[in-house]
Amino acid sequence: MENNKLNVPKPKSTFLKVKCAGCGNEQTIFSNANKDVKCLACNNILAESRGGKIKLKAKVVKEL
Ligand SMILES: [Zn+2]
Repeated sequence: MENNKLNVPKPKSTFLKVKCAGCGNEQTIFSNANKDVKCLACNNILAESRGGKIKLKAKVVKEL
């Protein structure tokens, strides 16, 4: 039995709190999301996935 830490997330990934430009909803998103992130309230795209990184479409309120 080994005790490897294979599933430790990379330290570069962060969570961002963004504000939807369409409706003002604030939502926490993952900076390394591998698919587009949409606003839960109005379905506006908050960030587009670009191969492991995201391109933000919404304003960042805070880095978590
Ligand atoms: Zn919205």
